[in-house]
Amino acid sequence: MKNAIETYERYLSKFPAERLTTFNCPSCKKQLKDVLNKGSFDWDSMAFCPYCQNHYFKVTKANNGAILTTKADQDD
Ligand SMILES: [Zn+2]
Repeated sequence: MKNAIETYERYLSKFPAERLTTFNCPSCKKQLKDVLNKGSFDWDSMAFCPYCQNHYFKVTKANNGAILTTKADQDD
């Protein structure tokens, strides 16, 4: 099984720096990167932090907007 951090870094390396944005993992607060959403609809997804192994909900806002996160195990 491949290392999660290596897989994450290999994925990011496919994109030029200007296509990426940063956000913080809602569990470990580590700064993560992902691809900006150039489209006109938000992207909802379940994501995985390669550093702390926790899952979280992620919304990548449309029109090159921010990435918002919520802990998957949050009760409220
Ligand atoms: Zn994390």
